[in-house]
Amino acid sequence: MSINTDAESQFAAIGLGGNLGDAPKTLCFALEQLAAHAQIHIIAISHLYRSAAIGPEGQPDYANAVISISTSLSPIALLDALQAIELMAGRERLLRWGARTLDLDILLYGEIAMQSERLTIPHIELYHRPFVLVPLADIAAARVLPNGHRADELAASCSRDGLALWPDLRWPSTVE
Ligand code: ATP
Ligand code: CA
Ligand code: CA
Repeated sequence: MSINTDAESQFAAIGLGGNLGDAPKTLCFALEQLAAHAQIHIIAISHLYRSAAIGPEGQPDYANAVISISTSLSPIALLDALQAIELMAGRERLLRWGARTLDLDILLYGEIAMQSERLTIPHIELYHRPFVLVPLADIAAARVLPNGHRADELAASCSRDGLALWPDLRWPSTVE
């Protein structure tokens, strides 16, 4: 079965992260690239957050944010587009969960649940990561996630240790 043969637009949530170089600037670059894509329309942009790194120790803090989009790209075509932008930002895949300039993950895509070699949707760690749930609640508080809980409920019940707002005048948040 193919998805989106009628090019109908779907809601998707994308997680943005990075912890090498000027991470807020790199996330701004990613937003510009996403906004410039003919088949991606940005709906909302969360606040920018700083979070303590997971994975190998001694890494710089991450900049994190979540955006909602509407897109006529299929899930796999969206992943291709995101990975092309990661490469443009100088992403290299060295260590698993190692430091990186830019990481773009598909958190949600419409109501789809799928698992393939390249893509698991919802993102497999969605419900376990405060640096994803908190910004997701900024832009989609009332959205009921596939586990039956609202985004704002999940954000309110997770630990905010190591998570803080990262004020940056360049960041074009759409949240009041
Ligand atoms: P994590 O998945 O724990 O956040 P990561 O983002 O560091 O780790 P990457 O090295 O960026 O992992 O990606 C590894 C692979 O994960 C990608 O090549 C991609 O095929 C796959 N992948 C599976 N599901 C998704 C998804 N929902 N969004 C993005 N990539 C995904
Ligand atoms: Ca990730
Ligand atoms: Ca990733």
